Amino acid sequence: MKSNQILQDLKQKYPHEPEFIQAVEELLEDIAPMYDDNQTYQDLDILGRVTEPDRMFSFRINWEDDKGNIQVNRGWRVQFNNALGPYKGGIRFHPTVSPSVLKFLGFEQIFKNALTGLPMGGAKGGSDFDPKGKSDNEIRRFCYAFMRELAPYVGADMDIPAGDIGVGGREVNYMFAMYKNMSREFTGVLTGKGVGHGGSLIRTEATGFGLVYFLKNMLDTANDTITDKKVLISGAGNVASYAAKKVIELGGKVITLSDSVGTLHDAEGFSQEKIDWVIAQKASRKPLKDYVQKFGGEWLEGKRPWAIKADIALPCATQNEINATDAQNLVDNGVKYVAEGANMPSDADAISIFQNNNIIYSPGKASNAGGVAVSGLEMSQNSVRQYSSFETLDKQLQDIMKNIHDACVEYGTSDDGKIDYKKGANIAGFSRVADSLVNYGIL
Ligand code: GLU
Repeated sequence: MKSNQILQDLKQKYPHEPEFIQAVEELLEDIAPMYDDNQTYQDLDILGRVTEPDRMFSFRINWEDDKGNIQVNRGWRVQFNNALGPYKGGIRFHPTVSPSVLKFLGFEQIFKNALTGLPMGGAKGGSDFDPKGKSDNEIRRFCYAFMRELAPYVGADMDIPAGDIGVGGREVNYMFAMYKNMSREFTGVLTGKGVGHGGSLIRTEATGFGLVYFLKNMLDTANDTITDKKVLISGAGNVASYAAKKVIELGGKVITLSDSVGTLHDAEGFSQEKIDWVIAQKASRKPLKDYVQKFGGEWLEGKRPWAIKADIALPCATQNEINATDAQNLVDNGVKYVAEGANMPSDADAISIFQNNNIIYSPGKASNAGGVAVSGLEMSQNSVRQYSSFETLDKQLQDIMKNIHDACVEYGTSDDGKIDYKKGANIAGFSRVADSLVNYGIL
């Protein structure tokens, strides 16, 4: 079956899963010619198989809030594809989590993990639980309850979850504790653990640092530099804050951060000290806008960062945070590079606008792969029961991001020398998975 027929079938089968369909369309846009030319792929229905998760679990989570009331949430784990290694991907706690969102994230994760070159399949999980406004005790009780339900489906050689939006080191530690308790085994069943008990020294920084290493490769290839470039960053969580730190360290000027209620604009640029303040502020779940009283700058209530004059944009918040209007704003305000730190932050119209206006654009599955790459290194450390130093891991992360960048260039450069990073990432990631599936036959 040709790729277009498979897409039509998926649209009919899953009309209520817009995010998942969006992620499939985004991939097909680039791989369709290659797929439709490859008779072996079609004979083995590689695309039909890769767009249908191996399995998906859905479960109820009961937990008790601080008032003693019983709360009920929904949880899921999508084990999408394990052609290249055990299922691997984060857990997201956010009210927008749904089967469609998790299928889009799990689908992206297959190709992102393939791009890292490490042996990891693709998965994703989460819950519609909203961590906002919850006490530490409530978070702990919820994480324990979540893992109690998830435990039968995961394992160090089977499926290894990690963090994502709403799930950081604290939550991973609670989930790991519950799994360890239930199984009476100390294995690398989760990544992003505390560094004292199996965690990697650079996992917290990895996605943000990796994003900027990828960006640096993009700039080098374009004979450009990050020095003194004005950078718009959205988000103020783990990815955004460590991306900001690395941009500053490399001589760039970060002028925005944001959260779900608005954007913080500091035209003078954030310093390391200011970023540390933001990290601490978020950790204690206090409002970002307090920054203005302490350091100056302006708070743009209800606004995203995309209408401010700059050179580079790093969307690090969430899916579909850049639409056509935002993309046009970026073009009009002089932005030349967009590198995604979040998963699918730009919608299809936004991507077309970038491409039609010669913005050098890299998709999340390539530029945010540093997080899961270091998760892969954490899995290796856990298997051999060893630790690596920060410097060793940082060097490995830089090498992996360069390899991903170079694969995008190899598969995404057209005859006129123009590099399409999205095309390169999609073709490189998909071929690795597809070729393994071919080797496996039809299982
Ligand atoms: N949630 C992260 C991602 O989107 C990391 C997943 C992991 O480390 O397994 O890639």
